[in-house]
Amino acid sequence: MRKTIIAGNWKMNHLGADAKATIQGLIEKMPKDVKAEVVIAPVFPYLSTAVEMTKGTAIHVAAQNMHWEENGAFTGEVSPAMLVDIGVTHVILGHSERRTYFNETDETVNKKTKAALAHNLTPIVCCGETLEQREEGIMQSWIEGQIENALKGISEADIKKVVIAYEPIWAIGTGKTASAAQAEEVCAIIRKKLAALYGAAAAEDVSVLYGGSVKGGNVAELTGSADIDGGLVGGASLKADDFLAIINNAVVK
Ligand code: PEP
Repeated sequence: MRKTIIAGNWKMNHLGADAKATIQGLIEKMPKDVKAEVVIAPVFPYLSTAVEMTKGTAIHVAAQNMHWEENGAFTGEVSPAMLVDIGVTHVILGHSERRTYFNETDETVNKKTKAALAHNLTPIVCCGETLEQREEGIMQSWIEGQIENALKGISEADIKKVVIAYEPIWAIGTGKTASAAQAEEVCAIIRKKLAALYGAAAAEDVSVLYGGSVKGGNVAELTGSADIDGGLVGGASLKADDFLAIINNAVVK
């Protein structure tokens, strides 16, 4: 069965003291029997601190990006082996901000996804359409294309280890949430695409998250939908209490 995952993408936020305070708040207040898989993604300089602080808790630590190569002359990059070496377990790949500002492409997302799997890191692979694409009526083909390209060469055995995050670009950091019906429609499209690529049984095992202005007040309706298995949360993951409200209100099916 697939997992419910609540993942917090801190983006380029929090100096060390704020990062530690947020993690400490989560450790102190998160229910010990939390059912969802909880993930936080601080910036690279604080990943080790996050790993150390969360040892023995139910909190997992993700990077927000990585390179696909093992090591070498790639100034400014971080490799999968380095993330594993410090205890990171997940990595967010292909976030729309990386695609928009840092030339991330479907091809590099695919290389990174394969590298993550090869290192036993859980890739959280992001996809999503712009408002223009939605209005032009090409949302479905765009999303299906992103999924197909990101997963090229990934086996049926490995697909279960991949997490997909549907993040409509028009809903990220804008305060505009896709309605539960809109989010469910696209998450179901993603699962159908996964079924076409890997078979229905494998598609049932893949966690598909929704991201875009998720909050404590809307997470229950979103995660109550059949094909939405959690949330990728930006702004509301920065403060422990806001993130806890999401963790506590998420529906774990
Ligand atoms: C994100 O960037 O992944 C995101 C969903 O941001 P926000 O929750 O702030 O919309």
